[in-house]
Amino acid sequence: MTHNLPRNTLRWTAQAACQHADPDLFFPLTWDGRPDQLVERARRICRACPVQPTCLDWAVRTGEPDGMWGGATPAERRPLRRTGSMNST
Ligand code: SF4
Repeated sequence: MTHNLPRNTLRWTAQAACQHADPDLFFPLTWDGRPDQLVERARRICRACPVQPTCLDWAVRTGEPDGMWGGATPAERRPLRRTGSMNST
C-alpha cells in the first residue's frame, strides 16, 4: 500500500507493515457493508506494525477522512478526534 503523505511523515512510513499490502484492504470504495473479515485482515496487519501508534496519531491529528490508519477505520477515528484519545485500535 502506498500512502500519499507529506514529506515530513516519510520516516515512519518507511517502517509501515502495509507497504506492500493490497491498497483495497486499507482504502475500500466504501466501509458500509464491508465484510468483517476484510476489515480484520487490514487490522491484523496494523496490529503487527511497528509504527501503529504514530500512524494512528497522525491520522487523528490531521483529520484523515479515508482509509484505515493505525488499525482504525474512519468511523472509529471520528470520536478520537473529538476526545483526543488514541488508546483504542
Ligand atoms: S498502522 Fe496500519 S495503516 Fe498504519 S502504517 Fe502500520 S500497517 Fe499501515
